Amino acid sequence: MKKITLSFDNGPDPEVTPAVLDVLAQKGVKASFFVVGDKLRDPERLALAQRAHAEGHWIGNHTFNHLVPLGRSQHEGVTALEIGRTQDLIGGLAHEMKFFRPFGGGGNLNADLLDRNARDYLQKEGFTCVLWNVVPRDWEQPAQWVETAMQMCRTIDHPLIVLHDITTGAMAYLDEFIDRAERDGMTFVQDFPAACLPMVRGKVMFDMSPFIADHGSRAYARPEIRKDRL
Ligand SMILES: [Zn+2]
Repeated sequence: MKKITLSFDNGPDPEVTPAVLDVLAQKGVKASFFVVGDKLRDPERLALAQRAHAEGHWIGNHTFNHLVPLGRSQHEGVTALEIGRTQDLIGGLAHEMKFFRPFGGGGNLNADLLDRNARDYLQKEGFTCVLWNVVPRDWEQPAQWVETAMQMCRTIDHPLIVLHDITTGAMAYLDEFIDRAERDGMTFVQDFPAACLPMVRGKVMFDMSPFIADHGSRAYARPEIRKDRL
């Protein structure tokens, strides 16, 4: 049995998340939602996170502002704001493993994801860091991502796919993707593949250095990331 795991980042969104939850309920699939802290300050969006949690989905932390990958930010105190404040807003909806997914600036698994402060903070606070292995770039190709995702999933042992419950139109094809993946012999599970969890409950599981910026030794005149990138 080949496993596949779904995750939805950057929501909740009143125009998209309810339909995503409806599809997941109809298909009997449990997933994870990595929410943006700033959005939870809106009661309507918070209610959607509550609904997802009540329906058995896991809620994870996906930073507060979601504007600059933590590895690119050098502002004092940014870690506590981006991770800690979001965790406070998630409150009782948090999974007991305290899932945190860094903002990837376009889905890139590189040293922009974290800096040492962020790693130390996640470790001290007992977080589980959840990365990914399939990014079909649904925001760039809202009508074609299903085919891309299918091709990518076929090459990976246990795909952990990143989708986005935001207003791109891409989630109109979620049910089609689930059907195709199941027809292809994949079974949807909620657990994450171990290869995507470099830190579990604050314990480092494998070398995290590829994901951690080294502010001390590299030139730091890089442009800020564009706001519209995911
Ligand atoms: Zn994101």
